[in-house]
Amino acid sequence: MARYAVVTGASRGIGHAVAVSLAKDGTDVLLCFAGNEEKAKETRQACLAAFPDGTFPLCRADVGTKEGCGAILAAAEAFPSLDVLVNCAGITRDGLLIGLSEEDIDRVLSVNLEGAILLCRGAVKRMIRQRSGHIINISSVVGLHGNPGQVNYAAAKAGIVGLTRSLAKEVGRRGITVNAVAPGMIATDMTAAMPQKARDAALAAIPMQREGTPEDVAEAVRFLASDAAGYITGQVLCVDGGMGM
Ligand code: NAP
Repeated sequence: MARYAVVTGASRGIGHAVAVSLAKDGTDVLLCFAGNEEKAKETRQACLAAFPDGTFPLCRADVGTKEGCGAILAAAEAFPSLDVLVNCAGITRDGLLIGLSEEDIDRVLSVNLEGAILLCRGAVKRMIRQRSGHIINISSVVGLHGNPGQVNYAAAKAGIVGLTRSLAKEVGRRGITVNAVAPGMIATDMTAAMPQKARDAALAAIPMQREGTPEDVAEAVRFLASDAAGYITGQVLCVDGGMGM
C-alpha cells in the first residue's frame, strides 16, 4: 500500500538523506525547505530515482512561522493519507548566552521547536482519524547533554524530547508512534561552519572517532518510520558514534 510522508529540511543534509531513504521504501514525500529550491529539486531527483512512481512535491515554507507550518499542512492534504512526519528543519545561532540577541533566541526556538510542535499538532489530527502514523522529531545530543555556546539550540532540542515523550503518551492509544532521533556530529552544512578547534574537540569525544553521515541518521529514521518499529514510542535514539554515552 502506498505511504505518504512530510519531511522538513528536505533540501539538504540529514533531511535530504531521510527523504531519499523513505523513497527507497516506496514512500511519497512532501519535500519541505526554506529557500534553497535548487537543492530541493536535487532531493526530488534523487527521490524519483529511488521511487519512480512517487510525485515528491516541493513545499517552500518557513517552519519558524505559523503561516509556514499551515502551508505545509495544507500542501500535505493533497496526499490521500499522512503516514509519516519527520521534523528535521533546524538552524543554529551560536554564542555565549550573554551575547545572544532576543532575535537569536526567538528564531532558534521558533524554527527548531515551535514549528515542530505545530506540525505535530496538524499531523496527529489526521493520524488520529487514520488510527495510525509515525512521527520522528530530530533532536540532538546537545539537547541531552548541553553545550556551551548553544543555550538557545540546546533548549530547543531538549524541548523536542519533551514534545516527543508527551505526545507519545497522548496518542499511543490511537496507534501513533512518536520518537526522537538525537544525532551527534554529522557531516552537513551545519557542522561545516564549525571552527576547526571545536571540530577537533568534538571528534576527540566520539568513541567511533569519526563524524556521522546524513545516511547514518536517515537509516534510524527509516526504521522508526516503518511498521517494524510499531511497538517503539516515546524513545530518543542517539545516532552519535557513542558521543553522548
Ligand atoms: P542543514 O544541512 O543546515 O540543513 C538544514 C535544513 O533545514 C535545510 O533543508 C533548510 O532549508 C531547512 N531549514 C532551515 N531553516 C528553515 C526554516 N526556517 N523553515 C524551513 N526549513 C528550514 O542541517 P542538518 O545538519 O542536515 O540538520 C538537520 C537537523 O538535524 C536539524 O534539526 C539539526 O538541528 C539536527 N542536527 C544536526 C546535527 C549535525 O551534526 N549536522 C547534529 C544534531 C542535530 P534550506 O536548504 O531551504 O535553507
